[in-house]
Amino acid sequence: MIQKIAVIKGDGIGPEIVSESMKVLNAIAQKYGHTFLFTEVLMGGCSIDAYGEPLTEETISVCKDSHAVLMGSIGGNTTTSPWYQLPAHLRPEAGLLRLRKELGLFANLRPCVLYPELRSACTLREDISSKSFDMLIMRELTGGLYFGERRTEAVDGVMTAVDTLTYNENEIRRIGIKAFEVAMKRNKKVTSVDKANVLDSSRLWRKVMNEVAKDYPEVTLEHALVDSTAMQIVRDPSRFDVMVTENMFGDILSDEAAMVTGSLGMLPSASLNETKFGLYEPSGGSAPDIAGKNVANPIAAILSGAMLLRYSCDLQTEADAIEAAVKQVLAEGYRTADIMSEGCRQVSCSEMGSLIAERV
Ligand code: NAD
Repeated sequence: MIQKIAVIKGDGIGPEIVSESMKVLNAIAQKYGHTFLFTEVLMGGCSIDAYGEPLTEETISVCKDSHAVLMGSIGGNTTTSPWYQLPAHLRPEAGLLRLRKELGLFANLRPCVLYPELRSACTLREDISSKSFDMLIMRELTGGLYFGERRTEAVDGVMTAVDTLTYNENEIRRIGIKAFEVAMKRNKKVTSVDKANVLDSSRLWRKVMNEVAKDYPEVTLEHALVDSTAMQIVRDPSRFDVMVTENMFGDILSDEAAMVTGSLGMLPSASLNETKFGLYEPSGGSAPDIAGKNVANPIAAILSGAMLLRYSCDLQTEADAIEAAVKQVLAEGYRTADIMSEGCRQVSCSEMGSLIAERV
């Protein structure tokens, strides 16, 4: 199989961790007889330095012409970097927001996995963390409260702010279908999270999810309220498989779930559009505090590569091989500095990449 992959290494630790992800993808290509054609383009601070803007038409067109985008992270130290003296539309993050829009990415997938070997990093009680967990939060990315009409005005002399939470049935259906499709590749369970006891938008959300579920008889659908879900994530995260929810609920719940794993450098993410196309990136930022030192944890970027193979290339076996290699390296006791614990062997970013590549 020949796949065109646009690569945005970005800023800070981005170039270091994405290079390791490419190393692992190249090992997969060699083992399974595929060709991955990487085209590197700039976005974020490095694009500002080179072209005076965070995202160029050239980068957009290379991404659109590819099967998928592999990204590191963008941005610098928000207090000291000159990029943050620029007007908001010229700052690094503006590039990413526009790219997501140009590519029509509406579904954000964040797996939150607690590996048995990293249980000590988990912030939950041992009787809860001992069960480990592996859930995937799918957040709607282009609608809801963050994109609804808003205004602040004086009403009868009192300052009043209004934000609107709007979803139409088509927007709900397309993310519902994505969630069920992803559940078919996992443990066939979907938890749809809403606030249907209060919000009209949630009642429509629930109705459409029930309709979508009819096309996936093998998948179990449960509905849950967002407040109770927030509690369940810290009480028993092992009960979740795929969770699907609207933009703001997903924003909050995915950070909560990421936090309880205790290791940001381990968490990949994917943003998908209606086709198989997707943008894959670590959940963490550009970590300017450790950039250029070869100490960053490349595992989130490497697992983002596995998600790219699974969701954009339909290469399930190859994706499984990367995930198994990561587990093996952890089981053998290798750790980067951020997840180091007693009795383990500390390795650099590039050593970790090589160890995983050797085991795929
Ligand atoms: P951050 O995630 O970059 O860093 C938070 C802490 O986690 C730091 O101590 C960092 O060293 C550590 N960390 C993060 N990833 C790591 C890894 N792979 N290995 C080891 N340690 C890791 O968050 P921040 O410091 O708030 O943000 C820094 C910059 O990143 C900002 O400019 C922010 O806007 C940007 N950012 C970009 C994205 C993105 O590109 N999608 C996402 C979040 C933040």
